[in-house]
Amino acid sequence: MRIEPQTNPICNSIDACELAQERARGAIWTPAMHLLRERTGGANHRVKRSFTVLALSPVTLAVLLACFCCAGAAGDRKASSGQKDSLPYVPLRKPASNSVVLFNGKDLSNWRQPDGRPAVWKVKDGVMTVARGNIVTDETFSDAFIHVEFREPYVPEATGQEKGNSGVYLQGRYEIQVLDSYGIKIPGTGDCGAMYGQYAPLVNACKPPLEWQTYDAIFRAPRVDQSGRVVERARITVLQNGVVIQNNVELLGPTAGHLDENVGNPGPLLLQDHGSPIQYRNIWLVHLPLKGSDKY
Ligand code: MG
Repeated sequence: MRIEPQTNPICNSIDACELAQERARGAIWTPAMHLLRERTGGANHRVKRSFTVLALSPVTLAVLLACFCCAGAAGDRKASSGQKDSLPYVPLRKPASNSVVLFNGKDLSNWRQPDGRPAVWKVKDGVMTVARGNIVTDETFSDAFIHVEFREPYVPEATGQEKGNSGVYLQGRYEIQVLDSYGIKIPGTGDCGAMYGQYAPLVNACKPPLEWQTYDAIFRAPRVDQSGRVVERARITVLQNGVVIQNNVELLGPTAGHLDENVGNPGPLLLQDHGSPIQYRNIWLVHLPLKGSDKY
């Protein structure tokens, strides 16, 4: 059953505001918002208190009153912390101290379109939303640890590759698929967490749409000889939401939609526009030393 949206949504938290805005753009967020609230029991429901004073000793009454006041103060602090009616919020994982922060949460100063034009994705409240065209980082890398957080919209009518499609391309060449694959028992090579078209994820570690998810990838770039011939293929290990979904797989080559085939060169991180309003935040990488890892 479809739950009709409220006519005047309460916009009292970042997530609630985003949801209202997304709904105005046509995405159906409200049913999922209700589902999430039901599932979590809400973040900050007011507790109605009623009690009857019985014949208690003065000492007992004093203890009860002290406890009640403390509970009331704690409730006030919670109410003033902005949690009221908010959706479950996964805290940002702090970037590693030696990381390169690729998305600063404020603007797209470290990003551009592949042809060099300015990136035009929307940025608000520390989150970027897919708009027109793929975007790439100015930063390039070879071996690296990469952390990305993303959130799927709630689009129950969409199916297959149209259901919240995007992608995280390492070096602009190897796509970790981003898709709403929540609930799929046996994910395939096109599902979320797949190395697109090559390796399905070991398990389906997807969270439902509207929940923030994480990718942590350990990427070993291909090794090439002096003529540019690949002598060792790229390898990747990926954790989704803390679960290993790719275990040191050997990539067969760049995946579909790759930026170029100069596999011996460093490359940027590319985020894919596939026509869905995927959201990203907290993106950073740690360059890994090649020395000591020059032979697999
Ligand atoms: Mg994709």
